[in-house]
Amino acid sequence: MAATKYIFVTGGVTSSLGKGIIAASLAKLLQARGYSVTIQKLDPYINIDPGTLNPYEHGECYVTNDGAETDLDLGHYERFLNRPTSQANNVTTGRIYQSVIEKERKGEFLGKTVQVIPHITDEIKHRIKLLGDTGEFEVVITEIGGTVGDIEALPYIESVRQLIWELGDDCCVVHLTLIPYLATTGELKTKPTQHSVKTLLESGLQPDVLVCRSEHDLSDDIKRKLAQFCNVRKEAVVESLDAKTIYAVPVLMQNEGLDQVVLKKLGLPLQGESDLKNWKEFLSKLEYPKKEVEIGLIGKYVELKDAYKSIVEAFIHAGAENECHVKLKWIHSESLSEHEMSEQIKGLNGVLVAPGFGDRGFEGKLEAVRYAREEGIPFLGICLGMQAAVIEYARNVLGLENAHSTEMDSDSAHPVIDLMDDQKEISNKGGTMRLGAYDCVLREGSKAAEIYKRREINERHRHRYEYNNAYKDQLTEAGLIASGVNPDTGLVEIVEIEQHPWFLGVQFHPEYKSTVINPHPLFVGFVKAALLHKSSVN
Ligand code: GLN
Repeated sequence: MAATKYIFVTGGVTSSLGKGIIAASLAKLLQARGYSVTIQKLDPYINIDPGTLNPYEHGECYVTNDGAETDLDLGHYERFLNRPTSQANNVTTGRIYQSVIEKERKGEFLGKTVQVIPHITDEIKHRIKLLGDTGEFEVVITEIGGTVGDIEALPYIESVRQLIWELGDDCCVVHLTLIPYLATTGELKTKPTQHSVKTLLESGLQPDVLVCRSEHDLSDDIKRKLAQFCNVRKEAVVESLDAKTIYAVPVLMQNEGLDQVVLKKLGLPLQGESDLKNWKEFLSKLEYPKKEVEIGLIGKYVELKDAYKSIVEAFIHAGAENECHVKLKWIHSESLSEHEMSEQIKGLNGVLVAPGFGDRGFEGKLEAVRYAREEGIPFLGICLGMQAAVIEYARNVLGLENAHSTEMDSDSAHPVIDLMDDQKEISNKGGTMRLGAYDCVLREGSKAAEIYKRREINERHRHRYEYNNAYKDQLTEAGLIASGVNPDTGLVEIVEIEQHPWFLGVQFHPEYKSTVINPHPLFVGFVKAALLHKSSVN
């Protein structure tokens, strides 16, 4: 195979411009032209990974098949490309320093002084090239977190400069920037972009392409001005107007010719037109839904939608598949009385109890489960949501009054959810949960098997606590079936209620695997059940 090509995506002017979406859209366009592409995110913070970060700090922690706890942008990469990522796709400053320091302790630097340049930058370059060296990808897109000019991003920018110096024409730099609109004078302003490009130039990086976020069309004049002052070709100034949905961005970028400019810079053939047929079919279903359902999302971070990013996106995929708009009602599980929770849920077509940690808002989650169970409302519990379903069943159907998870009550008389055996000796918090993809075998004739249309599945996990098999017989006899079990460990991964129209709790996170091209069967089935429930009550 020819040498791997590297595309670097940097951000200027402000954060939150959507570098991840631009990187994923560009990757999608290249993939649609037949190129094998992957995307990597370099995060400039010192944490080893976002696994220990509070969702308030950094949104959802996304988990890959190989059990890496990663930035939520990797979720976008997988959803757009329909291709799994791995630990190699997310590197943090913490991880870079950790490996350099480990090498130093082993004496691998042979008595040399260990420094940012060359040791840290060498490690960064090594991590960037790792994906290319697998031989699997013709193009590797590397998104540099943060904004140009940040002190902590400097070693990354310097590493990119060195790589370009080493690899020459096999590289392309895409700089994402903001063109603000001044309402008072009715003008789009290019100065902040000129400054951010100047900052890049000071570090020795010349952008090849400018992607300009803007609320208004960029005139020819503005494009010419940007090209001239930022030293790029005029056709390499690409406008990126605000889109209604992130899934429209690949099409917008195709219309702007972003992929063509990049391929030209890399010296790669266009290979015909991008084939976005399936993507556009999905988009039109998304834009013109025929029906609507309303589903309650019960969690404790509902004011922070990014904390449940993959769940929200999985509903978008499943909604389009059902040609239906899924309206989410965000319900805070904290400080709602039994009555208030019922009032919140009444009239909804489905209830999802979200994953989570700790006891804040947990009783509210139990109330939501009870209401959905008793009223026959379609219910999906994910991870902590599944654990809540088991606890609620044990308390209210089996009559085990103090049934609980030992996460919330370490002395529970009925620990129906308990710490997994191999977790008992662990004290370190980072990277020590049961993480990544595990097999699960579905019980014949179960709702789960009907939904997946197969008996063996593989799903991603992120938890320490688990269904306590000591209660399995009692729970099963009382009607809560263990319909998915890990074939190696016997851990119960799915529970369902036989006598309920649609009630499933899953210990894993189906949302991580849902993509535009492969919407997740559990979400598709859940939305279908919500539609059915809606038509049955109306
Ligand atoms: N806190 C629970 C556990 O660790 C659930 C985790 C989750 O919802 N991701 O088992």
